[in-house]
Amino acid sequence: MKNLEPLLEEKAKSIGITSTIPVEVLFAAGRVPVDLNNIFITSPQAAAWVEEAEEEGFPRTLCSWIKGIYAALKHRPEIQTVIAVTQGDCSNTQALTEILVHQGIKVIHFNYPYNRDPALFKKNLEELMGHFGVSWSKVDRIRKRISPVRKKLALLDRETWKGNRVHGWENHLFLVNSSDFKGDLGLYEEELTQFLDALADRAKIPETVRLGYIGIPPIHSGFYGFIEQLGGRVVFNEIQRQFSLPGFGNNLIQQYLDYTYPYDIFGRIKDIGQAVEERKLDGLIHYTQTFCFRQVQDLLIRKQLSVPILTLEGDKPRPIDNRTRFRLEAFIDVLRK
Ligand code: SF4
Repeated sequence: MKNLEPLLEEKAKSIGITSTIPVEVLFAAGRVPVDLNNIFITSPQAAAWVEEAEEEGFPRTLCSWIKGIYAALKHRPEIQTVIAVTQGDCSNTQALTEILVHQGIKVIHFNYPYNRDPALFKKNLEELMGHFGVSWSKVDRIRKRISPVRKKLALLDRETWKGNRVHGWENHLFLVNSSDFKGDLGLYEEELTQFLDALADRAKIPETVRLGYIGIPPIHSGFYGFIEQLGGRVVFNEIQRQFSLPGFGNNLIQQYLDYTYPYDIFGRIKDIGQAVEERKLDGLIHYTQTFCFRQVQDLLIRKQLSVPILTLEGDKPRPIDNRTRFRLEAFIDVLRK
């Protein structure tokens, strides 16, 4: 029994997160952040996990990400504490947390104030720090440790749209994983550094139809590769880029106030508009998730941005279907002319 103790202690370090939170707090506390969305979507069984949740009673008319997060926790029983973002993400997450509490999982709520109030954000952040017993000095030390990694991610992003040496899916993968740095900051940084070093030997990707991908990350697979087969390339991944906190800010609070995802749509539209100009985007693909409230925001995005937009909808984890393929083909054809 004694030999098991270090193992159990190690496992207790894992903290599930339902969305991007100030991970600096978890690293400062010596905990391991685990983005449950990434566990779900990278599982070869992701589609079966959604069905498992439905068999347990989750409605078919509920966003698959919620069911995926639920199932991810079932398959990773060592994760017994979850930080849930219930303001700045969605109310479905709130209902999910009630089920998790009922099942004995410890849930810590973290809220992004909708009005971006710095004082309220600070209060919420300090509450989170209190849960993990970490001081500002410890958190600031970790912020300084993570800062060069965030700068390298900005470099990778620049090499995507300006250097034209990075594929859309590579950009997506590095940025989407910056929500938890795959739980191991050192290893993640090593992978990123090696990737950036190898870019010097890469030829530029021939000029193509330049696309921006906006909205939450896709639940479909094969998306980026198919676009490149058609002669297009995603050179802007909106939300994934936001996960890397590209605003840098002068301090931790500002950094998370500049993060556009959890606040109103207008900050996102401004960020997307800047990318359209700077990255010379020919068009945008707006991915929306079936049964997600964010689908409504498509209306405002279309009203406020004057670039061609293709809106796609995804339901369950699976390869992109024929209808989506056909629509992407037609969209890229039109943009090429
Ligand atoms: S996709 Fe929409 S409904 Fe689903 S978890 Fe994310 S915010 Fe909530």
